[in-house]
Amino acid sequence: MRITAIREEAVRLEGAVANAVVSFAQHTVSLVAVVSDQIREGRPVVGIGFNSIGRFAQSGILRERMIPRVLDANPDMLLDAEGQLDPARVADVAMQNEKPGGHGDRAGAVAALELAVWDLNAKLADLPASIHIAERLGATPLTDGAPTYAAGGYYYPEDSTARLQDELRGYRDQGYTAFKIKIGGASLAEDLARVEAAIDVAGTPDNVAVDANGRFDFDTAVTYGNALTKYKLRWYEEPGDPLDFALQAELAACYEGTLATGENLFSSADSRNLLRYAGLRHDRDVLQMDPGLSYGLTEYLDTLDAAATAGFSRSQCIPHGGHLINLHIVTALGLGGCEAYPGVFQPFGGFSSACRLLDGRVTVSDAPGWGLEQKDQLAPLIAGLAA
Ligand code: MG
Repeated sequence: MRITAIREEAVRLEGAVANAVVSFAQHTVSLVAVVSDQIREGRPVVGIGFNSIGRFAQSGILRERMIPRVLDANPDMLLDAEGQLDPARVADVAMQNEKPGGHGDRAGAVAALELAVWDLNAKLADLPASIHIAERLGATPLTDGAPTYAAGGYYYPEDSTARLQDELRGYRDQGYTAFKIKIGGASLAEDLARVEAAIDVAGTPDNVAVDANGRFDFDTAVTYGNALTKYKLRWYEEPGDPLDFALQAELAACYEGTLATGENLFSSADSRNLLRYAGLRHDRDVLQMDPGLSYGLTEYLDTLDAAATAGFSRSQCIPHGGHLINLHIVTALGLGGCEAYPGVFQPFGGFSSACRLLDGRVTVSDAPGWGLEQKDQLAPLIAGLAA
């Protein structure tokens, strides 16, 4: 078992949506192909991964550092005891000579590579990644689909509560029953009108979450918290800076509802600190660390261990990043749910038409690997990279 090539392409996200902090108009994602010497139906088996959504492509880090290290390594160093490519060993080799700490963009670069190896191994086993991962890890997968909420409700140049409701009704018509919308990009009064409009479509406030994308200072976070408490929403996400654990802890001390955070922590070490110092409550709060932004699945398993040690159940782990890779990971590991971006962040957001969505639960298809080739917008890009 040998890697014969690793290729990376930066792919621009479509659309021009924005949250309270970021416009995604210029955003890109690293699509990575790990080409193996294993031949099926006359073609090499190729593993595909990408670094989730929201942090730009990492072409330089991958092409100048990570990919050369893996290709230059003794090939046997990359294998497990059964002679299969070991995602953890590939990630370790990619990280050679990198100092610890400072988990920034390279965490996404390693993740794209590591997740491509999981895809490759699942394809070699001719299994959907969710089943391959569950078997490899001895996990109990979800059997009737992953509870999945539709994330949207961004701010648009031409915006109104009517536009927001039309958007959410569109998700509801597709089969989603829970939604997340952005807050913090308008006045408090306008945001509360948006929240009420969303509850109106969802039917119940516990099917509506709100996300401030880390915009608020402490006073604003509390002001919003006080205004939101009465709705009893599903959760209030990233009120303050993702690394301001003191703000998070002070808010948790005065906001009774569910808080959610973690998508902008890129290592299990950072997650451990969050769990130690951010005042999160293991009886209600939600953890959103995203394997594609944080060194891949191997590191994410360590994060899950940290969460379990801190008293959080897997049902409270709902990764950021609404795409097929995380749908398989959520399904494989029996996590609490998955995000979906049904209408935005193409070609990576959302799932393939081969996945089944029913009553807010999404079931992966039986395609081997992550099944990214079944996503119409991604298929030509993957074919180009794999050729
Ligand atoms: Mg978020």
